Amino acid sequence: MKKIFCIGELLIDFVAENQGSDLRKASVFTKKPGGAPANVACAISRLGGSSTFIGCIGDDPFGNFLEQILVENEVDTRHLQKTDTFTTLAFVSIAENGERDFVFSRGADRELKYLPKIKSEFKGNMLHLGAATALLGGPLESAYGHYFFDGLTERAFISFDPNFRQDLWKRKEEAFIKKCIPFIEKSHLCKFSLEEAQLLSGKEDLMEACTVLHNLGTEAIVITLGKEGTYLSTGTRHGIIPSIAVEAVDTTGAGDAFIGCLLYLLSALEDPSEVMGNFEFLMEMVRTANAAGALTTTQFGAIPSLPNQDDLKAALK
Ligand code: ADP
Repeated sequence: MKKIFCIGELLIDFVAENQGSDLRKASVFTKKPGGAPANVACAISRLGGSSTFIGCIGDDPFGNFLEQILVENEVDTRHLQKTDTFTTLAFVSIAENGERDFVFSRGADRELKYLPKIKSEFKGNMLHLGAATALLGGPLESAYGHYFFDGLTERAFISFDPNFRQDLWKRKEEAFIKKCIPFIEKSHLCKFSLEEAQLLSGKEDLMEACTVLHNLGTEAIVITLGKEGTYLSTGTRHGIIPSIAVEAVDTTGAGDAFIGCLLYLLSALEDPSEVMGNFEFLMEMVRTANAAGALTTTQFGAIPSLPNQDDLKAALK
């Protein structure tokens, strides 16, 4: 089984309770672990895979809390870095219609250093570049680029999820697109939301969007569509792979559970890059990954609701 290195941010989400979308009025916040790459690392290990998290937290109680979550979930934390800068905090209030009020207090995640010694561990393994904050500048952006380059030179399998957050890129969407292009060019697998696929390709239609994105270089594309399932494109073939029916209560982390499960399944192969053009083969994996995403929506919070093998088997019966 290959190791999967998940690179990017680990932070605290303070979610306002019962306050509509107005943070000014919010008085009660619930502390939750956040950060897409860390969720993906937990999703992989929950299923029995081997995941390593590369990111930076503050040497403070919030950072210790986050480290403990990774350890409890059996994620390898050897490359978790700590700094004197405070742990990154995001404050969010979500109204019933999904409208968000968002304040971001960026701290330690930005400070991730590039450590050349990790490079040799990438050989024959897999990298998941799925940070929402990695392209926002600072040492993290530089380290992220270096780790990506090291993954390429060590011939690791590369998965990319741009994790576009509108709150973080207001009026800078063009810069975001430009920064994503090198990753789309060189990744074996890209995971997008519908909004991301449209933004990055400049096309509304999914098939046209995939043509643009494949032409940039990526071999396989998965576009997650919530309860509709996932659009899979291998270039020559494409189609929607339906999800299972569930009673969704909180969709946070569904995309991370989905890509975590897909990467876990790919990590069992001798050479995952070889199947990127094989629609039939990937379709079966996407079907299973859809179930992982769906199950994650049936409970509150991202990490607590990630499925294990038994949950998945029961859901796919
Ligand atoms: P993202 O977090 O990337 O926006 P989605 O919310 O689209 O991800 O969810 C990821 C995957 O999880 C979907 O492609 C789908 O297979 C599954 N999923 C998500 N929400 C539901 C739902 N309500 N019912 C069934 N499956 C779901």
